[in-house]
Amino acid sequence: MDHRDRWTARAANELVYVSGMAETIFAKIIRGEIPCHKVYEDDRVLAFLDVNPLSRGHTLVIPKEAVATIDQLSDDSAAAIGRALPRIARGILAVTGAPAYNVLQNNGAAAHQAVFHVHFHIIPKYDDGAGLGIGWKPIRLGDDGNDLAASIAAQVR
Ligand code: 5GP
Repeated sequence: MDHRDRWTARAANELVYVSGMAETIFAKIIRGEIPCHKVYEDDRVLAFLDVNPLSRGHTLVIPKEAVATIDQLSDDSAAAIGRALPRIARGILAVTGAPAYNVLQNNGAAAHQAVFHVHFHIIPKYDDGAGLGIGWKPIRLGDDGNDLAASIAAQVR
């Protein structure tokens, strides 16, 4: 069964994921079984303050669809997240006055993911340096750039 078939409408404005995948703490937050400091909610998206923020206003934006990584996300949830992120970012900037921010989205333990339910971090970056620190060690694009891009493009659907 395709994962997008596993949704059921339990009530108006409420979508519940019914597969047997492992439950995360975010599923409990979505259901209201664990409290959160909510900043936004619609029928597919929830956003709340991170319990261990990197900086003031650090917010998590999650789909209600319970999948671990972004490549597994349905088009409907992806569209809903894409619509919500800029709106939430504007709210965070308006309240915090932060001059900059990072949007971070980790997929897989090796990529620093700790909670295996898709989430986007919106992390204000302040003039005193508070916020996300980035270790960025680029390598050169190899001679196979054309082939690599074409191969990936052929897999995008
Ligand atoms: P990851 O490393 O998976 O991208 O980040 C997971 C984030 O979830 C962390 O920043 C962590 O502080 C946050 N987090 C984990 N458990 C909870 C919780 O119960 N409530 C809230 N609000 N945030 C949580």
